Amino acid sequence: MGQSITFHKADQLKAKPDAGQLGFGKYFTDYMFEMDYSAEEGWHDPRIVPYGPISLDPAATIFHYGQEVFEGLKAYRTEDGRILLFRPDKNMERMNQSCARLNIPEIDEKFVIKAIKKLVAVEKDWIPSQSGQSLYIRPFIIGTDPALGVHPSNTYKLLIILSPVGSYFGNSIHPVKIYVEDEFVRAVKGGVGYAKTSGNYAASLKAQTKSEELGFDQVLWLDGVEHKYIEEVGSMNIFFKIEDEVWTPALNGSILPGVTRNSVIGLLKHWGITVKEKKISVRKLFKKAEKQKLLEVFGTGTAAVISPVGFLKWEDKVIKVGNGEIGELSQKLYDTLTGIQTGKSEDQLGWTQ
Ligand code: PMP
Repeated sequence: MGQSITFHKADQLKAKPDAGQLGFGKYFTDYMFEMDYSAEEGWHDPRIVPYGPISLDPAATIFHYGQEVFEGLKAYRTEDGRILLFRPDKNMERMNQSCARLNIPEIDEKFVIKAIKKLVAVEKDWIPSQSGQSLYIRPFIIGTDPALGVHPSNTYKLLIILSPVGSYFGNSIHPVKIYVEDEFVRAVKGGVGYAKTSGNYAASLKAQTKSEELGFDQVLWLDGVEHKYIEEVGSMNIFFKIEDEVWTPALNGSILPGVTRNSVIGLLKHWGITVKEKKISVRKLFKKAEKQKLLEVFGTGTAAVISPVGFLKWEDKVIKVGNGEIGELSQKLYDTLTGIQTGKSEDQLGWTQ
Protein backbone atom coordinates (compact mmCIF):
# COMPACT_ATOMS: atom_id res chain seq x y z
CA MET A 1 0.00 0.00 0.00
CA GLY A 2 1.84 3.05 -1.23
CA GLN A 3 -0.62 5.65 0.04
CA SER A 4 0.67 8.65 1.91
CA ILE A 5 -0.65 9.43 5.37
CA THR A 6 -2.22 12.87 5.58
CA PHE A 7 -1.99 15.03 8.71
CA HIS A 8 -4.82 17.20 10.03
CA LYS A 9 -3.60 19.67 12.62
CA ALA A 10 -5.45 20.11 15.93
CA ASP A 11 -6.50 23.66 16.89
CA GLN A 12 -5.44 23.14 20.47
CA LEU A 13 -3.25 20.63 22.31
CA LYS A 14 -4.15 19.13 25.69
CA ALA A 15 -2.26 19.60 28.95
CA LYS A 16 -0.16 16.48 29.69
CA PRO A 17 -1.20 14.45 32.77
CA ASP A 18 0.94 14.33 35.90
CA ALA A 19 3.57 11.64 35.26
CA GLY A 20 3.02 10.18 38.73
CA GLN A 21 -0.73 9.62 38.18
CA LEU A 22 -0.85 7.85 34.81
CA GLY A 23 -2.44 4.51 35.76
CA PHE A 24 -3.40 2.40 32.75
CA GLY A 25 -5.35 3.66 29.73
CA LYS A 26 -6.90 6.72 31.35
CA TYR A 27 -5.37 9.50 29.24
CA PHE A 28 -5.21 9.80 25.47
CA THR A 29 -2.91 11.87 23.30
CA ASP A 30 -3.77 14.75 20.94
CA TYR A 31 -3.95 12.71 17.73
CA MET A 32 -5.15 9.36 16.42
CA PHE A 33 -4.74 7.45 13.17
CA GLU A 34 -7.76 6.57 11.08
CA MET A 35 -8.24 4.63 7.82
CA ASP A 36 -11.32 3.22 6.09
CA TYR A 37 -12.14 0.08 4.15
CA SER A 38 -14.68 -0.55 1.43
CA ALA A 39 -14.92 -3.43 -1.01
CA GLU A 40 -14.40 -1.01 -3.93
CA GLU A 41 -11.44 0.93 -2.54
CA GLY A 42 -9.83 -1.51 -0.10
CA TRP A 43 -8.07 0.18 2.84
CA HIS A 44 -7.92 3.87 1.94
CA ASP A 45 -7.60 7.45 3.17
CA PRO A 46 -4.97 6.88 5.90
CA ARG A 47 -4.82 9.99 8.07
CA ILE A 48 -3.64 11.36 11.39
CA VAL A 49 -6.42 13.47 12.87
CA PRO A 50 -7.11 15.18 16.21
CA TYR A 51 -8.15 12.60 18.87
CA GLY A 52 -11.87 12.68 19.48
CA PRO A 53 -15.27 11.00 19.17
CA ILE A 54 -16.15 9.30 15.90
CA SER A 55 -19.58 9.23 14.35
CA LEU A 56 -21.16 5.86 13.55
CA ASP A 57 -24.60 4.78 12.44
CA PRO A 58 -26.52 3.22 15.39
CA ALA A 59 -27.02 0.11 13.22
CA ALA A 60 -23.24 -0.35 12.71
CA THR A 61 -22.14 -4.00 12.84
CA ILE A 62 -19.77 -3.40 15.75
CA PHE A 63 -22.63 -2.39 18.07
CA HIS A 64 -24.77 -5.46 17.45
CA TYR A 65 -22.54 -8.33 16.43
CA GLY A 66 -19.15 -7.30 17.84
CA GLN A 67 -17.16 -7.61 14.64
CA GLU A 68 -13.92 -6.18 15.98
CA VAL A 69 -10.24 -6.97 16.49
CA PHE A 70 -7.61 -5.07 18.43
CA GLU A 71 -3.95 -5.08 19.42
CA GLY A 72 -1.84 -3.71 22.24
CA LEU A 73 1.82 -2.76 22.13
CA LYS A 74 4.06 -0.10 23.60
CA ALA A 75 6.57 2.60 22.64
CA TYR A 76 9.41 3.21 25.12
CA ARG A 77 11.70 6.19 25.55
CA THR A 78 15.37 5.32 26.00
CA GLU A 79 17.76 7.24 28.24
CA ASP A 80 19.60 8.56 25.17
CA GLY A 81 16.35 9.90 23.72
CA ARG A 82 15.49 7.22 21.14
CA ILE A 83 11.99 5.76 20.85
CA LEU A 84 11.65 1.99 20.62
CA LEU A 85 8.82 -0.32 19.61
CA PHE A 86 8.96 -3.92 20.86
CA ARG A 87 8.26 -6.55 18.16
CA PRO A 88 5.47 -4.63 16.36
CA ASP A 89 5.69 -7.18 13.54
CA LYS A 90 4.39 -9.86 15.95
CA ASN A 91 1.39 -7.72 16.89
CA MET A 92 0.54 -7.05 13.25
CA GLU A 93 0.89 -10.74 12.39
CA ARG A 94 -1.54 -11.56 15.23
CA MET A 95 -3.88 -8.77 14.13
CA ASN A 96 -4.17 -10.41 10.72
CA GLN A 97 -4.81 -13.81 12.35
CA SER A 98 -7.59 -12.16 14.38
CA CYS A 99 -8.94 -10.48 11.21
CA ALA A 100 -9.04 -13.83 9.42
CA ARG A 101 -11.07 -15.40 12.26
CA LEU A 102 -13.47 -12.44 12.55
CA ASN A 103 -14.01 -12.26 8.79
CA ILE A 104 -12.41 -8.82 8.58
CA PRO A 105 -10.32 -7.92 5.49
CA GLU A 106 -6.62 -8.26 6.17
CA ILE A 107 -4.35 -5.29 6.70
CA ASP A 108 -0.98 -4.52 5.12
CA GLU A 109 1.15 -5.25 8.21
CA LYS A 110 4.12 -3.13 7.09
CA PHE A 111 1.88 -0.18 6.28
CA VAL A 112 0.17 -0.26 9.69
CA ILE A 113 3.60 -0.41 11.40
CA LYS A 114 4.55 2.65 9.34
CA ALA A 115 1.34 4.36 10.52
CA ILE A 116 2.13 3.47 14.16
CA LYS A 117 5.65 4.89 13.81
CA LYS A 118 4.37 8.09 12.22
CA LEU A 119 1.69 8.61 14.89
CA VAL A 120 4.15 7.87 17.73
CA ALA A 121 6.67 10.29 16.19
CA VAL A 122 3.99 13.03 16.08
CA GLU A 123 3.15 12.30 19.73
CA LYS A 124 6.71 11.75 21.03
CA ASP A 125 6.30 14.36 23.76
CA TRP A 126 3.59 12.15 25.29
CA ILE A 127 5.96 9.22 25.92
CA PRO A 128 6.61 9.19 29.66
CA SER A 129 10.14 8.44 30.79
CA GLN A 130 9.98 7.21 34.38
CA SER A 131 10.71 3.58 35.20
CA GLY A 132 7.84 1.27 34.20
CA GLN A 133 6.18 3.95 32.05
CA SER A 134 5.54 3.86 28.31
CA LEU A 135 3.15 4.91 25.57
CA TYR A 136 0.52 2.20 25.06
CA ILE A 137 -0.58 1.79 21.43
CA ARG A 138 -4.05 0.43 20.73
CA PRO A 139 -4.82 -0.33 17.05
CA PHE A 140 -8.33 -1.67 16.40
CA ILE A 141 -10.71 -2.38 13.54
CA ILE A 142 -14.51 -2.17 13.67
CA GLY A 143 -17.24 -3.22 11.24
CA THR A 144 -19.25 -0.11 10.30
CA ASP A 145 -22.03 -1.24 7.92
CA PRO A 146 -25.40 0.26 8.90
CA ALA A 147 -27.36 -3.00 8.61
CA LEU A 148 -28.91 -5.42 11.09
CA GLY A 149 -28.63 -8.63 9.07
CA VAL A 150 -26.09 -10.99 10.63
CA HIS A 151 -23.34 -10.98 8.01
CA PRO A 152 -19.81 -9.62 7.74
CA SER A 153 -19.65 -5.87 7.35
CA ASN A 154 -18.65 -4.51 3.94
CA THR A 155 -17.07 -1.40 5.43
CA TYR A 156 -14.55 -1.04 8.27
CA LYS A 157 -12.58 1.55 10.15
CA LEU A 158 -9.07 1.04 11.52
CA LEU A 159 -8.09 3.39 14.32
CA ILE A 160 -4.93 3.71 16.39
CA ILE A 161 -5.09 5.53 19.71
CA LEU A 162 -2.26 6.19 22.17
CA SER A 163 -2.24 6.36 25.95
CA PRO A 164 0.68 7.23 28.26
CA VAL A 165 0.70 4.54 30.94
CA GLY A 166 2.35 3.64 34.20
CA SER A 167 2.83 0.17 35.57
CA TYR A 168 -0.31 -2.00 35.05
CA PHE A 169 -0.65 -3.30 38.61
CA GLY A 170 0.44 -0.16 40.50
CA ASN A 171 3.82 1.38 40.99
CA SER A 172 6.20 -1.53 40.52
CA ILE A 173 6.42 -5.27 40.00
CA HIS A 174 4.60 -6.91 42.92
CA PRO A 175 2.98 -10.36 43.31
CA VAL A 176 -0.68 -10.62 42.29
CA LYS A 177 -3.41 -12.87 43.69
CA ILE A 178 -5.09 -15.12 41.16
CA TYR A 179 -8.41 -16.93 41.40
CA VAL A 180 -8.90 -20.15 39.39
CA GLU A 181 -12.35 -19.80 37.82
CA ASP A 182 -14.17 -23.14 37.74
CA GLU A 183 -17.70 -22.04 36.77
CA PHE A 184 -17.41 -19.57 33.88
CA VAL A 185 -15.15 -20.18 30.87
CA ARG A 186 -13.46 -17.75 28.50
CA ALA A 187 -13.16 -19.69 25.27
CA VAL A 188 -13.33 -23.09 23.62
CA LYS A 189 -11.33 -24.66 20.82
CA GLY A 190 -13.02 -23.79 17.54
CA GLY A 191 -14.22 -20.48 18.95
CA VAL A 192 -12.41 -17.13 18.93
CA GLY A 193 -10.16 -17.56 21.99
CA TYR A 194 -6.93 -17.21 20.01
CA ALA A 195 -8.12 -13.97 18.42
CA LYS A 196 -7.82 -10.60 20.09
CA THR A 197 -11.44 -9.60 19.79
CA SER A 198 -13.77 -7.64 22.07
CA GLY A 199 -16.24 -10.49 22.72
CA ASN A 200 -13.61 -12.51 24.59
CA TYR A 201 -13.23 -9.65 27.04
CA ALA A 202 -16.99 -9.06 27.36
CA ALA A 203 -17.30 -12.75 28.25
CA SER A 204 -14.62 -12.39 30.93
CA LEU A 205 -16.05 -9.47 32.88
CA LYS A 206 -18.45 -11.39 35.12
CA ALA A 207 -15.70 -13.69 36.40
CA GLN A 208 -13.29 -10.77 36.80
CA THR A 209 -15.84 -8.97 38.99
CA LYS A 210 -16.39 -12.16 40.98
CA SER A 211 -12.64 -12.59 41.57
CA GLU A 212 -12.30 -8.95 42.69
CA GLU A 213 -15.21 -9.39 45.11
CA LEU A 214 -13.35 -12.36 46.58
CA GLY A 215 -10.22 -10.20 47.01
CA PHE A 216 -8.22 -11.40 43.99
CA ASP A 217 -6.58 -9.42 41.18
CA GLN A 218 -7.30 -11.60 38.15
CA VAL A 219 -8.94 -14.81 36.97
CA LEU A 220 -7.06 -17.90 35.83
CA TRP A 221 -9.17 -19.59 33.16
CA LEU A 222 -9.57 -23.33 32.78
CA ASP A 223 -10.42 -25.08 29.52
CA GLY A 224 -14.00 -24.65 28.35
CA VAL A 225 -14.90 -28.35 28.05
CA GLU A 226 -13.61 -30.24 31.08
CA HIS A 227 -12.74 -27.30 33.36
CA LYS A 228 -9.54 -29.15 34.28
CA TYR A 229 -6.71 -27.69 32.24
CA ILE A 230 -5.08 -24.32 32.72
CA GLU A 231 -5.41 -21.81 29.89
CA GLU A 232 -4.43 -18.21 30.70
CA VAL A 233 -5.07 -15.24 32.96
CA GLY A 234 -7.45 -12.31 32.21
CA SER A 235 -4.91 -10.36 30.15
CA MET A 236 -1.79 -12.50 30.48
CA ASN A 237 -0.38 -15.88 29.59
CA ILE A 238 0.82 -17.96 32.53
CA PHE A 239 4.08 -19.73 33.39
CA PHE A 240 5.07 -22.10 36.20
CA LYS A 241 8.59 -22.83 37.40
CA ILE A 242 8.50 -26.44 38.52
CA GLU A 243 11.83 -27.56 39.94
CA ASP A 244 14.34 -26.63 37.20
CA GLU A 245 11.83 -26.56 34.31
CA VAL A 246 9.37 -23.93 33.17
CA TRP A 247 5.88 -25.01 32.03
CA THR A 248 3.25 -23.03 30.16
CA PRO A 249 -0.02 -24.17 28.57
CA ALA A 250 0.44 -25.15 24.92
CA LEU A 251 -1.38 -22.95 22.39
CA ASN A 252 -4.50 -24.96 21.65
CA GLY A 253 -6.79 -22.61 19.75
CA SER A 254 -8.52 -21.13 22.78
CA ILE A 255 -5.50 -19.30 24.28
CA LEU A 256 -4.27 -15.92 23.05
CA PRO A 257 -0.75 -16.36 21.59
CA GLY A 258 0.96 -13.60 23.57
CA VAL A 259 3.92 -11.68 22.17
CA THR A 260 5.42 -11.56 25.67
CA ARG A 261 4.81 -15.33 26.03
CA ASN A 262 6.73 -15.92 22.81
CA SER A 263 9.54 -13.60 23.98
CA VAL A 264 9.79 -15.27 27.41
CA ILE A 265 10.01 -18.72 25.82
CA GLY A 266 12.72 -17.37 23.49
CA LEU A 267 14.73 -15.88 26.39
CA LEU A 268 14.43 -18.98 28.59
CA LYS A 269 15.61 -21.23 25.75
CA HIS A 270 18.43 -18.78 25.03
CA TRP A 271 19.48 -19.17 28.68
CA GLY A 272 19.43 -22.97 28.39
CA ILE A 273 16.35 -23.45 30.59
CA THR A 274 13.95 -26.28 29.66
CA VAL A 275 10.56 -24.87 28.65
CA LYS A 276 7.61 -27.23 28.22
CA GLU A 277 4.54 -26.05 26.34
CA LYS A 278 1.99 -28.62 27.44
CA LYS A 279 -1.48 -29.41 28.72
CA ILE A 280 -1.35 -28.62 32.47
CA SER A 281 -4.09 -29.86 34.78
CA VAL A 282 -4.91 -27.63 37.73
CA ARG A 283 -5.03 -30.73 39.98
CA LYS A 284 -1.48 -31.71 39.01
CA LEU A 285 -0.26 -28.16 39.53
CA PHE A 286 -1.70 -28.04 43.05
CA LYS A 287 -0.09 -31.45 43.77
CA LYS A 288 3.28 -30.04 42.65
CA ALA A 289 2.72 -27.12 45.00
CA GLU A 290 1.87 -29.45 47.91
CA LYS A 291 5.16 -31.24 47.30
CA GLN A 292 7.01 -27.90 47.35
CA LYS A 293 7.95 -28.32 43.67
CA LEU A 294 6.13 -25.24 42.38
CA LEU A 295 8.77 -22.58 42.84
CA GLU A 296 7.47 -19.61 40.84
CA VAL A 297 4.34 -18.55 38.95
CA PHE A 298 4.22 -15.53 36.68
CA GLY A 299 1.95 -13.97 34.08
CA THR A 300 3.24 -12.41 30.87
CA GLY A 301 1.64 -9.62 28.85
CA THR A 302 2.35 -6.29 27.20
CA ALA A 303 0.67 -4.29 29.95
CA ALA A 304 2.41 -5.80 32.99
CA VAL A 305 5.40 -7.40 31.13
CA ILE A 306 6.07 -9.96 33.89
CA SER A 307 3.65 -10.22 36.76
CA PRO A 308 4.66 -12.55 39.57
CA VAL A 309 1.81 -14.49 41.15
CA GLY A 310 1.97 -14.71 44.94
CA PHE A 311 -1.28 -16.57 45.64
CA LEU A 312 -3.45 -19.00 43.68
CA LYS A 313 -6.92 -20.10 44.83
CA TRP A 314 -8.76 -23.09 43.35
CA GLU A 315 -11.93 -24.47 44.97
CA ASP A 316 -11.13 -24.43 48.70
CA LYS A 317 -7.37 -24.64 48.29
CA VAL A 318 -4.98 -21.70 48.39
CA ILE A 319 -1.34 -21.87 47.34
CA LYS A 320 1.17 -19.33 48.54
CA VAL A 321 3.86 -19.45 45.84
CA GLY A 322 7.40 -19.48 47.22
CA ASN A 323 7.36 -16.99 50.08
CA GLY A 324 4.72 -14.84 48.36
CA GLU A 325 7.47 -12.51 47.11
CA ILE A 326 8.95 -12.01 43.61
CA GLY A 327 10.84 -15.10 42.41
CA GLU A 328 14.38 -14.88 41.11
CA LEU A 329 13.49 -16.00 37.57
CA SER A 330 10.46 -13.66 37.35
CA GLN A 331 12.68 -10.74 38.37
CA LYS A 332 15.40 -11.71 35.88
CA LEU A 333 12.88 -11.97 33.04
CA TYR A 334 11.33 -8.63 34.00
CA ASP A 335 14.72 -6.90 34.15
CA THR A 336 15.87 -8.44 30.86
CA LEU A 337 12.70 -7.69 28.91
CA THR A 338 12.26 -4.15 30.23
CA GLY A 339 16.01 -3.63 29.68
CA ILE A 340 15.65 -4.54 26.00
CA GLN A 341 12.41 -2.55 25.64
CA THR A 342 13.91 0.61 27.10
CA GLY A 343 17.27 0.28 25.35
CA LYS A 344 19.24 -0.29 28.59
CA SER A 345 20.29 -3.84 27.68
CA GLU A 346 21.68 -5.04 24.41
CA ASP A 347 18.95 -6.26 22.04
CA GLN A 348 20.68 -9.51 21.09
CA LEU A 349 17.56 -11.03 19.57
CA GLY A 350 16.75 -8.02 17.38
CA TRP A 351 13.33 -7.37 18.95
CA THR A 352 13.21 -3.59 18.95
CA GLN A 353 12.68 -1.08 16.16
N1 PMP B 1 -3.95 -13.28 27.09
C1 PMP B 1 -4.91 -12.35 26.96
C2 PMP B 1 -6.32 -12.76 27.08
C3 PMP B 1 -4.56 -11.00 26.73
O1 PMP B 1 -5.51 -10.06 26.62
C4 PMP B 1 -3.19 -10.65 26.63
C5 PMP B 1 -2.82 -9.22 26.38
N2 PMP B 1 -2.72 -8.93 25.01
C6 PMP B 1 -2.23 -11.67 26.74
C7 PMP B 1 -2.65 -12.97 26.97
C8 PMP B 1 -0.77 -11.36 26.59
O2 PMP B 1 -0.46 -11.07 25.25
P1 PMP B 1 0.75 -10.08 24.89
O3 PMP B 1 1.96 -10.64 25.54
O4 PMP B 1 0.81 -10.11 23.41
O5 PMP B 1 0.39 -8.75 25.43
